[in-house]
Amino acid sequence: MKLKRLQVNTASPAQPRGSVLVIYTGGTFGMAFDGSGTLVPFDFSRILGYLPPLKHLALELNVVSFETPIDSSNMGPDHWRIIAEVIRDEYDRNDGFVVLHGTDTMAYTASALSFMLEGLSKPVVFTGAQLPVSEPRSDARENLITAIEIASAKKDGKAIVPEVCIYFDYELLRGNRSRKVESMQFDAFDSGNYPLLAKAGVKIDYNHSAIRQAPEGPLRLHTRVDPRIAILKLFPGITREAVRSVLRTPDVRGVVLETYGSGNAPTLPWLVAELADAIARGVVVLNISQCPGGMVILGRYETSKELLRIGVIGGSDLTTEAAVTKMMILMGEYDRDRAVELIQTSLAGEMSV
Ligand code: ASP
Repeated sequence: MKLKRLQVNTASPAQPRGSVLVIYTGGTFGMAFDGSGTLVPFDFSRILGYLPPLKHLALELNVVSFETPIDSSNMGPDHWRIIAEVIRDEYDRNDGFVVLHGTDTMAYTASALSFMLEGLSKPVVFTGAQLPVSEPRSDARENLITAIEIASAKKDGKAIVPEVCIYFDYELLRGNRSRKVESMQFDAFDSGNYPLLAKAGVKIDYNHSAIRQAPEGPLRLHTRVDPRIAILKLFPGITREAVRSVLRTPDVRGVVLETYGSGNAPTLPWLVAELADAIARGVVVLNISQCPGGMVILGRYETSKELLRIGVIGGSDLTTEAAVTKMMILMGEYDRDRAVELIQTSLAGEMSV
């Protein structure tokens, strides 16, 4: 996967008030209809043609693009690593970063980046669009311009939002608390278990008490990823064979168990036996809820007591996106015991403890 640096002639002002790096990865944002009516990526260096106001932001804008922009359904750990490395390499030169990304897996990439970029003290704002920037009714213009504003926003010389977040449809959300919830309307994301970090109207209203404090110390990257993770989503009537096929996936190291309500599962003896067997084989089983709001409290009901007893660990209010990426990165970086300890610790504001 190659990157290219693009010349976007924003005619940098003599005294820019800051510098933002835009990392363009693809997605609907940068597409235009070709002659046959199919959406295909357009040459991003032509962005100013679609977004003349970029010239008036009084910022130095740098752009790095995936050489071949991709639909975010094709994003994976290698792309997360590349984005993290670009941010590290450009860290000192820029006040903030905007990642232009397809909406489909944006919450996964934003979650992954929040775990990869330990010690982050500058904004990394993900955004994209539901309609291509070339369309008259597109949401791309507002999303990108406000994302750039947020990425460059400072108070007393310090970044106002020193964390990985998603800006979409006038709302700023914590990245590792977000989920894509809508594919037709413009309000594509929500974060049911965490308040908005900001709301954009005539001015941008920051919710300072919800925004993370910048940590002390330098930026440290964690880019070793172990993808041997699986998801087991329970449903009434699930068969032993279906459960087995997931828990016995060859080489699987971690399973995200999606349970009901506050972490409940059927008390079927075979289910408990299959889970206990997986745990005995060293598989880490992390319990998160299928509910978009609330959290797992293991042992609250009889239906989760057994899970606690056999060694299933509780994921509190982690989203699926945060649970999967957190497990992949911690299992890639640490041995099993350390990973289990850290999975239950909030590392980047991703869960309530
Ligand atoms: N399929 C597109 C993507 O995720 C959708 C979008 O960008 O909104 O790349």
